[in-house]
Amino acid sequence: MSASTPLPHPLVRTPEEWRVALAALGERPFRAMPVFQWIHRRGVMDARQMSDLPIALRDKLYEEGLAPVLETTTVRRSLDDTRKLLVQFADGATVETVLIPSVSGPGSAAEQNADAAAADLDEDDAAPEVRRVTQCISTQVGCAMGCVFCASGVAGLKRHLGSHEIVSQVLEGRNALDPSEQLRNIVLMGMGEPLHNYDETARTLRLLNHKDGINLSTRRVTVSTSGLVPEIDRLGKEFAGQVTLAISLHATTDERRTALMPINKKYPIGELLAALRRYPLPKRRRFTIEFTLVAGQNDDVAEARRLASLLRGMPVKINLIPMNPIEASTLAPPDLSGVLAFQKVLLDAGYSCFVRRRRGDDVDAACGQLALLGAKPRPKRPFASDKS
Ligand code: SAH
Ligand code: SF4
Repeated sequence: MSASTPLPHPLVRTPEEWRVALAALGERPFRAMPVFQWIHRRGVMDARQMSDLPIALRDKLYEEGLAPVLETTTVRRSLDDTRKLLVQFADGATVETVLIPSVSGPGSAAEQNADAAAADLDEDDAAPEVRRVTQCISTQVGCAMGCVFCASGVAGLKRHLGSHEIVSQVLEGRNALDPSEQLRNIVLMGMGEPLHNYDETARTLRLLNHKDGINLSTRRVTVSTSGLVPEIDRLGKEFAGQVTLAISLHATTDERRTALMPINKKYPIGELLAALRRYPLPKRRRFTIEFTLVAGQNDDVAEARRLASLLRGMPVKINLIPMNPIEASTLAPPDLSGVLAFQKVLLDAGYSCFVRRRRGDDVDAACGQLALLGAKPRPKRPFASDKS
């Protein structure tokens, strides 16, 4: 790192960057690792609470900006123990991050959301009394991609999140876990298109994976994307294919996909699948293909058959997501029989295909519903607990 490179926000500096920063403050570089570990291992975001550092240094670091950048304003716990944290940044912008505990049995939300790659290769080293949690995090406030079934898309992009704001969601979420819980998987499936905010997403991925910090294996981190082809290529190269990818496909013809997802005009299905074919996917790993089912748009059996032939020979598992209704649209999910008929075609064709269970429905925590709630409070629903 050259002396002229501006340093990133204190919450997302690597130990090496901390050494540079401490030197610039006239402090000794050996403090770099303890400061980094206070943040990323212990989840302390306020320098004044780093109790084994000299008080003068704590104050200096606090002045430098080593302080929380978000505040949890609401925690809603649903009947299935999914927790939705509404977090607010300094400018008043709010996003949500969701903690989803695993449930036993195949097809649990953790497996489905965090992708087979993690589950497939998972030698079960967690003690039985430990409950694994998947955290869903947001990368932008709103989203520029404009998918018609998505609350974030309808809201439009308000702003990108900085990596310090993305990583802080993880630290905040991990701090909020019950004592018996362990953070096992992270999915970038909240508000926003992670690859539209590439640099901040990439720094986040590096920090989540840092062995002296949060130390989550890259394959336990899933990036969900609407299909930004150049950034998929870049991610594949920069992370050697290790990051687990979930692709929001949602239709098998360009006409249908463009109607649901305007980004398809720029990167049509053929180009997207070509990007997956050249992605340096490690052996025995698979892509997740997300397919949000919208009644009358993409839920017919002919579509399922086309999907089966489109993906033939590709290393994929398919997640069917019955659309969660959003306020801003009359689009609706198919009825259950339609979902099951769609799934059957794919199972019969030999695919691994789950219907994503709706977790945290009663707290609007289902992915794709994470947008408008902060800006526009909804009528209250019955919650198991509601801490404001
Ligand atoms: N922008 C990224 C990641 C965030 S959206 C992407 O599109 O992949 C995460 C997932 O939630 C996507 O598969 C998206 O299609 C899905 N989603 C969005 N709105 C939804 C809704 N109303 N019902 C069901 N799934 C939805
Ligand atoms: Fe953005 Fe994903 Fe929503 Fe599309 S589905 S608008 S890409 S957040």
